Amino acid sequence: MRMGVEVQDTSFAAVAGQENVSGRSPAPISSRLASLLGSKDRDYLLSRDGTQVKMSDLEGKVVALYFSANWYPPSRNFNQFLIGAYQQLKSTNVPFSDLETKKSLTRKFEIEAIPCLVILHPGSGKDVEQNALRNGVELLHRFGVNAFPFTKQKLEQLEKEDKEKHDSQTLVNLLTNRDRDYVLSHHGARQVPVASLVGKTIGLYFSAQWCLPCEKFTPKLVPIYHKIKADDEDDFEIVFVSSDRDHESYASYFSLMPWLAIPFGDANIRSLAKHFDVQGIPCLVILGPDGRTVTAKGRSLINLYQENAFPFTESKVELLESQVDEEARDLPRTKLHGGHRHELNLVSQENGGGPFICCNCEEQGVGWAYQCLDCGYELHPKCVRVVGDHAVRDVASNG
Ligand SMILES: [Zn+2]
Ligand SMILES: [Zn+2]
Repeated sequence: MRMGVEVQDTSFAAVAGQENVSGRSPAPISSRLASLLGSKDRDYLLSRDGTQVKMSDLEGKVVALYFSANWYPPSRNFNQFLIGAYQQLKSTNVPFSDLETKKSLTRKFEIEAIPCLVILHPGSGKDVEQNALRNGVELLHRFGVNAFPFTKQKLEQLEKEDKEKHDSQTLVNLLTNRDRDYVLSHHGARQVPVASLVGKTIGLYFSAQWCLPCEKFTPKLVPIYHKIKADDEDDFEIVFVSSDRDHESYASYFSLMPWLAIPFGDANIRSLAKHFDVQGIPCLVILGPDGRTVTAKGRSLINLYQENAFPFTESKVELLESQVDEEARDLPRTKLHGGHRHELNLVSQENGGGPFICCNCEEQGVGWAYQCLDCGYELHPKCVRVVGDHAVRDVASNG
């Protein structure tokens, strides 16, 4: 098999003032691939050092189209990742000046967000677009270079292995390594053996001081943690998994947290983020007493249900959802909120609602919400600050 993976960086950012190469007679375009990536003036791509790479050289290779931009931090982060993943990478580029090709590629593959990595398979012929995989970023995050050559069989096999890995995970093999069998607590930098946590529900808190949403979420999580511990002292613990960049920020951030932590820079931090496919922080992954994953959505469950979310199990969440539905029956259909000038309407998943970001607390929400039909302004029901006697009047008219 040819280990040829070519990545076309169709970077939107660096539109340098270069002129189109003109006056070239176009070479015959022999494949669908070439017609996707080329233009009437151009049958080549650029490599790192600026030399031209003939489109025909890509025949038979798996080609990844990398939609990215230098100005966008998530793209920059993924760049590093992508470069690391492909040590044999030969990077070639659609020339900066070829905006038409970039626009048509963006349209063709319905690129809505960057970074985006579209994988094209060799031999897909006319169906190269239909058979393209659009989730290359996710696949590389999850499986690294093992995802190559991105075929259906390969991906099914990886999914199966991934499932087996998760089915057999234990708290001890997740949190310890050859050199360390403990996590840290505040009390005199005390070491707490991971073995002593077995049997508890554990929240792995992926977070970092430099992350703004983390800065907002951590102070909310602290009192909720204390409330859960007050009722279920021996059943619950949180372990901070830090992606801070230096020990100083790690230490000052951890000093705000009443729970435990994996030491700064520990090897398990990276492997945990990979194992749980953590793509954004803050992220709260919940492990059950048996060490298996309960949910990766601990953060939004905390936002929705606070301490009541414990122990985060499917059956608990179903119960909470039905309670919310029950309570929502008695909520006024419309409300006036102190922070918005239009009337807000009660919506649910079924009638115009859906996942949203609350305009008051800026956290995620699902299910019931108060929504402004004009502006798309949306709030958690708990976040509405009612003004006047509007709500009372409305209850009366609904009752
Ligand atoms: Zn809210
Ligand atoms: Zn409005």
